[in-house]
Amino acid sequence: MNAVGVDVGGTKIAAGVVTPEGKILDEVRYPTPHSPGTLVETIARAITEVGDAPEVGGVCLAVPGLVLAQENKVVYSPNLRAVEGIPLKDELEPKIGMPLTVENDGNAAAWGEFRFGVGSEADHLVFVTLGTGIGGGVITHGILMRGAQGSGGELGHVTIQATGPRCACGNHGCLEALASGTAIGRRARELAVEHPDSALGRLAARRQILGEDVTELAREGDEVALSVLDEAGRWLGVGLAGFINIFNPEVVAVGGGVMEAEELVLEAARKEVILRARPPSRDLADVKVATLGPKSGVLGAAALARDASSREYLLGG
Ligand SMILES: [Zn+2]
Repeated sequence: MNAVGVDVGGTKIAAGVVTPEGKILDEVRYPTPHSPGTLVETIARAITEVGDAPEVGGVCLAVPGLVLAQENKVVYSPNLRAVEGIPLKDELEPKIGMPLTVENDGNAAAWGEFRFGVGSEADHLVFVTLGTGIGGGVITHGILMRGAQGSGGELGHVTIQATGPRCACGNHGCLEALASGTAIGRRARELAVEHPDSALGRLAARRQILGEDVTELAREGDEVALSVLDEAGRWLGVGLAGFINIFNPEVVAVGGGVMEAEELVLEAARKEVILRARPPSRDLADVKVATLGPKSGVLGAAALARDASSREYLLGG
């Protein structure tokens, strides 16, 4: 059967109807409303538009924040407050006439990469997405690791540096506070002040530096920009080394907007993994760029909608 995957982001909602082979047949996008009532209406409209296709049997919403899986509810979502506490299944199912489940966006994207992307040959995958924040998901023995409540796999909020910068979650020194696009932008602005004659320093004199500026200047050879990405890559590697020790994955996939920088970040991360992770896990884990890009959320959510109702999923197929 086909299924609908909906990626509910802080700025846009993307809904797609997806075949079992991972082909998106139809897709719509809407800006994300930030009032709860309009948010539910917009999600319902997006699902109805693409769901009007043959053999569509279910829907999964990929949402940012901490999810209570059994209640199909998001309890904490700093980037999308409007979604917090809404009984999404109860509100949406009568409007769309199909079964609906709710999944954390990092978990859904991990499932997308596992089913259709960089992890499709693996049974054990760790996926990390580096964007404004850091999300992720873990697949072990072919099963998505959700934990007791569905809130597991929050890879961005492991503490990497106990006294490090404050994170959006309130903790200090999370991986997200050290290696996300936001962290890269913040560190670049600090170093631009120390190095006013660098390309980064000269840009900072004209306007606020963003994470993507750093990648562009690094590609042009600016040493300061390169050092910012190298530092973020090393922090990422510290995090990945821990994940590799815990989960012994075959593939560690890194996605998200920061991966535009590819090897400028990943090379430093791999060096840190070699220093810190233990063999044999260290030697098995292949650290590489995820392949589905921004479509991983829609593809993963659709696959979860289908797999959730099938025996194949229960067996971890
Ligand atoms: Zn955090």
